[in-house]
Amino acid sequence: MADDVERVLDATDIVALITEHVTLKRSGRRWVGLCPFHSEDTASFSVNQEDGVYYCFGCQAKGNAITFVKETSHVNFVEALSILAEKAGITLSKDSGYDSKSAERRAALHRLLERASEYFVESLKDDKGGQQAREYLSSRGIGQGSWDTFQIGWSPSARFNIGQILKFPADLVVEAGLGYQDQSGNLRDYLRSRIVFPIRDTSGAVIGFGGRILPDALKSLQPDQSPPPKYKNSPETLLYSKRRVLYGLDLAKSEIVKNGEVVVCEGYTDVIVMHQCGIRNTVATCGTALSQEHFERLKNFAKRIVLSYDADKAGQDAIERLYQFENKHSVELYVASLPGGKDPAEIGVKDPASLVKAVSESKPFLRFRVERVIAKGDLTTSEGRARAADAALGLVAEHPNPLVRNDYISSIASLSGLDLKSVEARYRDLQSRAQHSATGGNNAGMMRGGSLRSHRHRAARPAIESLRLLVHDPNVYSEFIIPELFEEDAQVSLAHLMASVENVKEAAMAVEDKGGEVARLFFELASEEREVDPLDVVSRQVEVAATREIRRLSSRIRSRDFDGAQLQEVVGEIGEVRMWVEQLRELPKRDVACGMLISWLGKKRVFAGEAELKGNNELI
Ligand code: ZN
Repeated sequence: MADDVERVLDATDIVALITEHVTLKRSGRRWVGLCPFHSEDTASFSVNQEDGVYYCFGCQAKGNAITFVKETSHVNFVEALSILAEKAGITLSKDSGYDSKSAERRAALHRLLERASEYFVESLKDDKGGQQAREYLSSRGIGQGSWDTFQIGWSPSARFNIGQILKFPADLVVEAGLGYQDQSGNLRDYLRSRIVFPIRDTSGAVIGFGGRILPDALKSLQPDQSPPPKYKNSPETLLYSKRRVLYGLDLAKSEIVKNGEVVVCEGYTDVIVMHQCGIRNTVATCGTALSQEHFERLKNFAKRIVLSYDADKAGQDAIERLYQFENKHSVELYVASLPGGKDPAEIGVKDPASLVKAVSESKPFLRFRVERVIAKGDLTTSEGRARAADAALGLVAEHPNPLVRNDYISSIASLSGLDLKSVEARYRDLQSRAQHSATGGNNAGMMRGGSLRSHRHRAARPAIESLRLLVHDPNVYSEFIIPELFEEDAQVSLAHLMASVENVKEAAMAVEDKGGEVARLFFELASEEREVDPLDVVSRQVEVAATREIRRLSSRIRSRDFDGAQLQEVVGEIGEVRMWVEQLRELPKRDVACGMLISWLGKKRVFAGEAELKGNNELI
């Protein structure tokens, strides 16, 4: 199969293939044209003939020849492969048969998951153990209508396993994420004594489950037992990937399109209660932060995304990242201020009207951040008011639209109780300082360009220089200088810390608690002047990080970590990343390439999954 893919891709001229759909012109080593996947007036679609990959700077469509056929002809991987094979006059090897098997396997997994879901639903209604679950759901205000709509179930506590009950083979049960082998090799059910929420893909097919423990289960724990997680989701499987899936999207999609708006919550019960309150355009992430992939899905349904969870709980790091996604995917991000920092599920049951109100009065993301940062400040003293206004102005400065910025400056004045003229003056002052340090640094860099000493010094320390920018201006740089750019533990920790604070002062307090190498690094950098061109520094550090990641992926390819479609995806990705790294050296393209690579590196962390997210929380 892998051989077939390689042969077909080698035989396919991607430029010839794509010009069947759009006109491409040569531009340097690449081909460019109008994107076939979104409507545009200027050409942002770029094809790299050598590596056989394409990328759109407008809509981020990307891939190789197989992806292109999949997307334009709406066929699956195998069909796309055979279309291209036929064009190239290649006969696909019969004995491989991998993908027809894989299609069968997927169908078998779907059948098993569907049967399991039915079994859980029956157990909620009939099982003796289901009694407590029924009581719990009622106590949380989740009515029987919702049990049916969302097919809520109960996984009994019995020790025999679901595969035996449903008569499916053990390997399929494990592959579906329903069971696992314990240390003595016995098959065990993955979800036991839990309320079960089936997770479906957009077409409504079950792909996994989320399971919630009953509060009583925690009471009966022995003192030396560590408590089980409150929620447990299916492990990643062929069908289920938590960084892509959005709970409830199958039920919500038509309402989302109708309203042009999607409400995003954190939990299953939030979605269910939102529906009960008549807010049916609601989805939830499944035990993970909103990822790049979630945005890519949502933006196809609606341009307005309302975050309906406690933004402080989501963590500052997530907020910064969201802002980056908002710009990248041209969506409008809103935040619903939930009364008392409670979950939508709690509010919606006690006071549905206030939940509906909170969602309908959601605020643009920037307004929410500005109001929050000012509310946190001490407005009783003039120093406090000035500090609060500075912090808010820092947030406003990040917005790309000057009209929006001006609008916010006047509201910062009124919110912080300062005179509009002096806030405007302060903003200009902060801006000119930022510009001065940027262009000043640039000139200094050019003047010193001929000096071998400074050149070597700068080349050896892009990581340190990037961190220094971040330490001096966390508000400006934490979106670009992300922890994924760094390798050394102390550097990674410091980057995480800087992403969680609003300013240097706050960072100094946080870092004092940590002590050790992180604190030493922070204070050293904070006390040094920065004297460099930010883009130059960041792009060199991005190059280091991207090259390191390519090396890692390549060595994983060599040790056969990927197969089939996954392998193709990774190979395509590497080609694309190489192209961007190359563009880092071409001045006019540098900032775009830099942005692309940062978001790619950021995505790598989402790939890495739970382990790193956990580590991240510990750091903050
Ligand atoms: Zn496009």
